[in-house]
Amino acid sequence: MPEVFKNFINGEWVLSKTGATFNDINPADKSDIVGVFPKSGSEDINMAVEAASSAFDKWRKTPAPARAEIIYKAENLLRKRKEEIAKIATKEMGKILDETKGDVQEGIDTAFYMAGEGRRLFGDTTPSELKNKFCMSVRMPIGVVGLICPWNFPVAIPSWKIFPALICGNTVVLKPASDAPASSMELVQILEEAGMPKGVVNLVHGSGEETGMALVEHPKVNLISFTGSAEVGKKIGELCGRNLKRCSLELGGKNAQIVMDDANIDLAVDGALWGAFGTTGQRCTATSRLIVHKAVLKEFTEKLVERAKKIRIGNGLSPDTDMGPVINESQLKKIHSYVEIGKKEGARLLTGGYFYEEGDCKKGFFYMPTIFMDGHSTMRIAQDEIFGPVVLIMPVNSFDEAIEVMNSTNYGLSSSVYTKDIDRAFKAVYIDYSKRLQKAQIDTAKEH
Ligand code: NAP
Repeated sequence: MPEVFKNFINGEWVLSKTGATFNDINPADKSDIVGVFPKSGSEDINMAVEAASSAFDKWRKTPAPARAEIIYKAENLLRKRKEEIAKIATKEMGKILDETKGDVQEGIDTAFYMAGEGRRLFGDTTPSELKNKFCMSVRMPIGVVGLICPWNFPVAIPSWKIFPALICGNTVVLKPASDAPASSMELVQILEEAGMPKGVVNLVHGSGEETGMALVEHPKVNLISFTGSAEVGKKIGELCGRNLKRCSLELGGKNAQIVMDDANIDLAVDGALWGAFGTTGQRCTATSRLIVHKAVLKEFTEKLVERAKKIRIGNGLSPDTDMGPVINESQLKKIHSYVEIGKKEGARLLTGGYFYEEGDCKKGFFYMPTIFMDGHSTMRIAQDEIFGPVVLIMPVNSFDEAIEVMNSTNYGLSSSVYTKDIDRAFKAVYIDYSKRLQKAQIDTAKEH
């Protein structure tokens, strides 16, 4: 029987008031249920927010270095349990163990960094323009903070949100992704073990539309920190704006790698493989467009396709696996539908483009590393975030054209350039950035 997990509210592990549950499924083997989690509703969120609100005054008055002591303990516990938590993360979201160890390490590093901030929460003093007046600013906590996380970095992303919020004296309610709730549960358990006072950290599982929305809409939540898709981010941003609630959004990407005619091709191929197929292409910063100068197109493409064909697909827990499954069935279908769209749009399929069902992989959600050729910016596969192991090669004739193509997307999360020309590299950094800002402003203006 799979283990049944609970919410964490006011320092107690409790079942949801709704009584409903959902299964956390191993994407490498859909018959393997990692755990059964509460499908919470607005009443559960309300209890968690009330607990966080009641705990706030005492926590904000706890000296920051004393808050840091608890975070240092949590860092230590995370470090001790790194392997164990990485395995849980791989089991519930699929990426290979080396990557989930890196994920937990990010949590350790963030805890360590933020605990240090406990002695550095400096303010500013400013000379006053008025006589006999003294001006200063000090940092004040905001209150109850709602944290909504995606599944692809199930330890790192909750850590980036929880530790900074806590060190600054806020109390939190965390709503993890339904596809990776167990990793967040581990993190919260560690905070409990480290001595976090009751009500300071609360965890409520459930769906985005019900549980997540209830958190966003709760009047006692003063700030929402959201990481996830642009689509959901827009909804949350609008709601927060309407209620004058502070909001931070970290959203999706359609990231590109430029490979210039003078690039070290082997290095560029390494970068493209890791960028496109690491985490099975399910990273906000995954490379999904390869903008390649025609002078090196043949060599780069041949080497990339040859290496992509050798990627070993399988369960992320196996040391022989290079690339794990995709997160769930609907994502698997979405990826395949984009492959069909790409074919119809006239992109040429060089490798992949189908479900991988060899051996044990038929039990899970596996897709072949997929490379398309002859891409151009009007294609949907060059515009939409596919979030899977699919990459499009877009040939160009010059550096200027490469920058133009790079910026021909609404997303602006990350990009890279492979060249030995330092002047060109810095131009890419500067032009890329300023043009993207301009484009984002024009696109936003058009939408309204
Ligand atoms: P998602 O579908 O937007 O979900 C993210 C979180 O929001 C989940 O906890 C989800 O709950 C919840 N949610 C969904 N609908 C909601 C609503 N109406 N109100 C409140 N909460 C709601 O994204 P995902 O599939 O988990 O993650 C992939 C996306 O995250 C990609 O677009 C990726 O690029 C982006 N991402 C960005 C960064 C970054 O730092 N920029 C980092 C990682 C990932 P459920 O799980 O229950 O649906």
